[in-house]
Amino acid sequence: MLKNKTALITGSTSGIGLAYARALAEQGANVVINGLGDADEIEATRAAVENDFGVRCVYSAANMLKADEIATMVANAENEFDSLDILINNAGIQHVAPVEEFPIEKWDAIIAINLSSAFHAIRAAVPGMKKRGWGRIINTASAHALVASPYKSAYVAAKHGIAGLTKTVALEVAEHGVTVNAICPGYVWTPLVEAQIPATMEARNMTEEQVKQDVLLKAQPTKEFVTVEQVAALAVFLCSDAASPMTGTVLPMDGGWTAQ
Ligand code: NAD
Repeated sequence: MLKNKTALITGSTSGIGLAYARALAEQGANVVINGLGDADEIEATRAAVENDFGVRCVYSAANMLKADEIATMVANAENEFDSLDILINNAGIQHVAPVEEFPIEKWDAIIAINLSSAFHAIRAAVPGMKKRGWGRIINTASAHALVASPYKSAYVAAKHGIAGLTKTVALEVAEHGVTVNAICPGYVWTPLVEAQIPATMEARNMTEEQVKQDVLLKAQPTKEFVTVEQVAALAVFLCSDAASPMTGTVLPMDGGWTAQ
């Protein structure tokens, strides 16, 4: 379905981002992966995408804290593959703390990585998509783009911001064959979720099992974590022709969390 298309996924060295990269490669797209991590592990991840799906996969080390590196990453992708057709803004970090103790540098980093990096990447990618008359921009938002939880002020603010950015850009590019949508997963079992458990245990004075059952899955009526493959399948659908009238949407995949 996506043969001769190129997809760039920010924050795709693990978790949901890697699942997007592999799912789009499975559909025939060449992919640019990006993110932090051990160089050997990233190379193994990159090579596996090429070997498993017979597409080209290149890695960009651009830091999502740096506007100039993001613009260069997009330009390099366009030069390398002649076009950048699918952009998935997915890089994200989390920090859990009461607002009065929230470290200022964590606030700044979360707003930069989870929100501003999407703006910088979209800003750089839109001219080429408009010129070619086709594009798909998908932003990984979160159930936290629709509802809040305590102790996550920066994350919830950034994700609500991503929802607004999604709708705004969707309106701007609507007549150019470019759609812009946000996916709002509930809790997905990834390194990001695993890493916030200790701080939540401390903030709420709970055991690990209590955090999983009484904080994370409490919000999710299905009582099951969403899988990375399920999130990636929604992104593949958003890249299809059937999804071309869908734009400016903020789509929950959250086991019923935001229905409550
Ligand atoms: P993850 O930690 O597995 O992946 C995050 C990715 O972002 C990694 O590849 C990491 O290297 C990259 N990254 C972090 N800082 C970066 C930087 N400065 N520059 C470049 N890359 C950077 O986590 P995940 O759960 O897969 O999260 C992916 C996205 O999904 C995030 O935007 C997150 O907010 C969102 N999300 C996750 C869940 C969940 O339950 N896991 C739920 C809703 C939304």
